[in-house]
Amino acid sequence: MIAADALPGEAGAYALIFRLAAPVTLPIATLNNPTLGAGTYVYAGSAFGPGGIRARVSRHLRAKKKAHWHIDHLSARAICIDVQTYPGGRECALVENMLAAGADVPVPGFGSSDCRGCQAHLVRLAAGNQNGNIADGIERATKQGKSDGCR
Ligand SMILES: [Zn+2]
Repeated sequence: MIAADALPGEAGAYALIFRLAAPVTLPIATLNNPTLGAGTYVYAGSAFGPGGIRARVSRHLRAKKKAHWHIDHLSARAICIDVQTYPGGRECALVENMLAAGADVPVPGFGSSDCRGCQAHLVRLAAGNQNGNIADGIERATKQGKSDGCR
């Protein structure tokens, strides 16, 4: 169980890490109802509204909610095993670094409708990186204060 209350109230980026033991099909018609195979997935998002990262991630982790974003369909069907937060960071930098570390994009367009730079904001970690410890370069990248994409 992730303690959302302990998350930062500042604006910034976050990564939700999901592990799927078995394939799951998501009822997202606009993405052709994609099926995700077993593996570890990371959704990169950002929160700039009131309550910052804490408010947004609390919503993501709440079991009962009306599906509004693509990620809501995944979070309703998969267990979130970890949350990492990057106050002041950008979700696009997280995606970029995970891809550079060998992750791939299982569903083009997932979570990135508003982003011109990324193929998706959901990646599947490489087979050798399944322990929920997401790519080493991530924190470095967000601290560089990249501001391209997504805004
Ligand atoms: Zn992006």
